[in-house]
Amino acid sequence: MPYDLIIIGGGPAGTSAAISAARGGVRVLLLERGRFPRHKVCGEFVSGESLSLLTHLLDRDCAAMLPNAVRISRARVFLDGRTLRAPVDPPAASIARLDLDAALWRSAGSAGVEARQQVTVQSVTGTGPFRVVTTDGEFQARALVNASGRWSNLSRSPRETERREKWLGIKGHFTEQFAEPSAEPSVDLYFFEGGYCGVQPVRVGGGDSSAGRVNTSAMVRADVASTLPEVFAQHLALQERSRRWTALSDPVSTSPLIFRHPQPERDRILMVGDAAGFVDPFVGDGISLALRSGTLAACCLAPFFAGDASLRQAASQYDEVYRQSLLPVFHASSKIRRLLGLPRPVRKPLLMLLENAPAITRYAVKKTR
Ligand SMILES: Cc1cc2nc3c(=O)[nH]c(=O)nc-3n(C[C@H](O)[C@H](O)[C@H](O)COP(=O)(O)OP(=O)(O)OC[C@H]3O[C@@H](n4cnc5c(N)ncnc54)[C@H](O)[C@@H]3O)c2cc1C
Repeated sequence: MPYDLIIIGGGPAGTSAAISAARGGVRVLLLERGRFPRHKVCGEFVSGESLSLLTHLLDRDCAAMLPNAVRISRARVFLDGRTLRAPVDPPAASIARLDLDAALWRSAGSAGVEARQQVTVQSVTGTGPFRVVTTDGEFQARALVNASGRWSNLSRSPRETERREKWLGIKGHFTEQFAEPSAEPSVDLYFFEGGYCGVQPVRVGGGDSSAGRVNTSAMVRADVASTLPEVFAQHLALQERSRRWTALSDPVSTSPLIFRHPQPERDRILMVGDAAGFVDPFVGDGISLALRSGTLAACCLAPFFAGDASLRQAASQYDEVYRQSLLPVFHASSKIRRLLGLPRPVRKPLLMLLENAPAITRYAVKKTR
């Protein structure tokens, strides 16, 4: 059996599982279909609660980029002509996925992971040991982690493709000269019927933020918009703000965006990150959940590799701890999403209340962490 563990997918979930397992002496093969660095649809908001874990996962050279990241210390929500404000405490970091994913990938290599890019996993058989068929040959391992993301050939179920309402994710970087240079950086969420768009300052490759680069990322219903200019046109304040922008990157998009009940284990395969469950992106917790579930999966597998537990026991331990520690985030975010989706006349008094009682907004944000 050449590998102890094969991990499918080299995003934040797969790399964190790989780094944690390899540091524990496990022989890990990490397979990624794409190639780093690459842009990815994401708001690039890395929650403050996960920054110490991220620092721990990155090797020393890669961790050096963290102090240079823009810190986001406040959030603003623009909806129905009102603005809700909440502090982001602890402050989040704004890190371009172009840099973040490449840094995690490099750190996996430094931890001793055999990390192969441009290798697509086509099928998996077995319930331990596992046989993995890829575009680059076949591999076998005693355990398997599926970190292939929200909508891969290995994480979706056939029934889901039948859903009618189609949601897209679209993202792009733009130049923006700060209107108020002294203001603390904020994540700004513009909500409209059929979607939202997040805007926040970001640096790329350790660049200078005074150059004024913002990331915009939208989640939108396909019948409402399919390009970023169409998204901007959905919200008056956003349309006004975006008039001064110039594109710095080609837009990237992804679809469909489907929320499903999280499932951390399938046939003794540990599912991590978005492959386990896709949290509503406006709460900015997907990367954090990916890092935490990836690390958790590696911890739960350690007794199996040490010969102290069966794979079945390790997988059910992971399932249990995942449900206890990570599931509450999914519940809180779907409640907030339901509130924001209420009909306008019902939503109006609620927004007035939240605007005048920031403690409630702060409480709601805390529940999503
Ligand atoms: C519009 C939008 C905005 C978002 N904004 C934020 C935000 O601001 N903050 C935040 O924390 N989260 C945000 N998210 C969520 C965040 O992007 C994800 O939660 C995060 O990327 C999950 O990481 P992951 O490693 O599980 O999956 P991914 O990052 O998707 O990585 C999965 C990897 O698996 C690879 N793969 C897939 N299939 C195969 C295969 N068959 N063989 C080999 N490799 C394969 C893919 O190429 C990919 O690199 C947002 C999401 C969307 C859609």
